[in-house]
Amino acid sequence: MENNHNLSKKKLHTPSAFRIKLIIPSVFFIVTILFLLTISLFYFQSNNQNNNIFEKRFTRTKSISGDFYKYNIESDAKAIQAIMTSLRVSKELSSIFATKDRKKILEYVTPLYIELNHDYNITHFYFSDLNRVNIMRAHAPDRYGDTINRVTTLNSESNRSVAYGVELGKLGTLTLRVVSPWYSDDGTQIGYFELGMEIDHIISRLERILDFNIELFIHKQYLQKDTWNEGMAVLGRNIDWQQFDSLVPTKQIINPIFRSFINSKDENKTFFGGSIKSYKKDGSTFWLLSVPISDIEGRNVANLLMLADTTFETDVTQKTIITVGLIIFVLASLLLIAFLRQINKIITHIALEESLLNKMANKDSLTNLYTRRVFDESLRREIKRSESSKYTFSILLIDIDHFKNVNDSYGHHSGDIALKIVSKIILDSCRDTDIVCRYGGEEFIVIAKSRDSQEVKVIAERIRESIQSTTIDIGNQRLINITISAGISSCGDNKSNDFNIVAAADRALYRAKSAGRNCIRIA
Ligand code: GH3
Ligand code: MG
Ligand code: MG
Repeated sequence: MENNHNLSKKKLHTPSAFRIKLIIPSVFFIVTILFLLTISLFYFQSNNQNNNIFEKRFTRTKSISGDFYKYNIESDAKAIQAIMTSLRVSKELSSIFATKDRKKILEYVTPLYIELNHDYNITHFYFSDLNRVNIMRAHAPDRYGDTINRVTTLNSESNRSVAYGVELGKLGTLTLRVVSPWYSDDGTQIGYFELGMEIDHIISRLERILDFNIELFIHKQYLQKDTWNEGMAVLGRNIDWQQFDSLVPTKQIINPIFRSFINSKDENKTFFGGSIKSYKKDGSTFWLLSVPISDIEGRNVANLLMLADTTFETDVTQKTIITVGLIIFVLASLLLIAFLRQINKIITHIALEESLLNKMANKDSLTNLYTRRVFDESLRREIKRSESSKYTFSILLIDIDHFKNVNDSYGHHSGDIALKIVSKIILDSCRDTDIVCRYGGEEFIVIAKSRDSQEVKVIAERIRESIQSTTIDIGNQRLINITISAGISSCGDNKSNDFNIVAAADRALYRAKSAGRNCIRIA
C-alpha cells in the first residue's frame, strides 16, 4: 500500500530545512563575534602602543617631572637661604671672615661644612672677598685665590642681594648656587658667601617617585673636553666623552636602551626638543621622556632622560583583552549551543506533531484505512495518469447491506466491530499498490491500479464471499453474518471528458442493491 500521503505536496518547512535555516545564521553569528573580537584586539593593541593611552599619560608625567624639578630647585634654594640667614647672624663667623685669615677660617668652617654637607646635601661652601677673589673653599681648601665670575656671584654683586640659580660647572656638573653679600658687624660689606648643592638628589627623588630609570645628560656644546675630563678624574667617574655624539652623561650609562637610543642620530635630533617616544627592544616596550633642564641664563644645558618600562602593563592589557575576548566567545558559543539544542527539541517535537496530524488526516481511526481526502487526491493522480497514457485503473465501491439493522439490533459498538472486520477483509484481498479507503459510514472504496473492471470483479467476488462466510463475533457471545454489495467502474469503460468514474461505480452499486443485495455489478 502507498505509504505517504502528505497534507500538501509542497512542504515549505521541513525539520531539516528549519535546522539549516537556524544553523547558518548561528555559525555566521559566531564567526562575526570572532571576527569583531579579533579586529578590536588588534585595534586596542596597536592603539595602546601607538601613542594613545601611554602617550597621554607620559606627556603629563613629563610636564609634572619638569615642574617637580623646578619646585625642588626653588625649595632647596629657600632652604639654603634660611641656612645662610642663620649663619649671617653669627658675630663670631663674621669677625673670622673679616680677618681673611685662611687658617682661622678653615679651622672654624670645616666642622660647619661637614655638618651642612651631611644634613643638608651642601656640597659647595665659598667665602670670597669684595672683588670676588676666593678666600676659602671649605669643600676644597687647596683651591683659592681665583676670581669667581659665575653668574650667581655677578648677580649678587650687581643687585647687592642674594642671588641663586643652577649653573653648569666646568667639570660638567649642575649645581644650585646661592650667593649672598656678607657684612661685618659695623655693616660694611666684607665679601661674598656662597653655598651650593649638586642637583643629583632631585633626580634620585624623581626616580624613586616614578620608578623610572633617569639619567642626566649635558650638552657637549657647553663644556670644554679637557676641563671636563679633569673634572671626571677629580670626581672619580669613568665616563667616555666620545660615547655619544652631542651629549655626555653625568654617570656611566649601563642601560642598553639609553645607549642604543642616544646613539641613533635621527632619533635624538627631534627627541631633545623635549618630546616623548615609545621604543621596542627584544619584546619589551619602553617609553623615553626627555625633560629639558635650563641654567640660570635660560640655556638648555642638559636634559633629563627618563626611561619607563611598560612591558608589564602592555602585556597585562593584551592578556586582559584576549581573556575577556575568549570569555565572551565561549559564553556566546555556549549560549548559542543551548539555544540551538532548545530549538532542535522544538523542531523534533513539531515534526512529531506534524506526522501525527498527517496520520490523523490520512487514516481513518476506526478502520485504519485511508480517508476520503487520500482517496480524492489519489483519484486525481490516477485520472491524470490515465489521460496521458494507455494506463487503466478501476474503482470498486462497497456498501454493507442493511447495516442500519446491525446498529439498531446490537448497538453502535457492535456495528463498529463489524466495520473493522469488513475493513480487514477488504484490505487483505487487495494488492499493496491498491488504495483502500473508507468512503463514508459503512461504504468503502478501492482504487485498483492497472486493472480493468473484469479483473476487479474477481477480487470483489472474493471479498463478497469472504464477508458472507465470516461469522462476526460482536461481543456478549453474539455472532452475526453480514453481506455487502459493490459497484465497479473503470476508466477504460468510457473515455469521454465528462465521465465520472465514482458516479458510475455508485450507479452500479445501486443496481446491485436493487438486484437484491449481496451481489456485484459493473458499470
Ligand atoms: P442498505 O443496504 O440500503 O445500504 O441499507 P443500510 O441500512 O446499510 O443503509 P443506510 O444508509 O440506511 O444506513 C447506513 C447505516 O450505517 C446508518 C448508520 O447508523 C450506520 N453507520 C454509519 N457509520 C457508522 C459507524 O461508524 N459505526 C456504526 N456502528 N454505524 C455506522
Ligand atoms: Mg450506505
Ligand atoms: Mg448499507
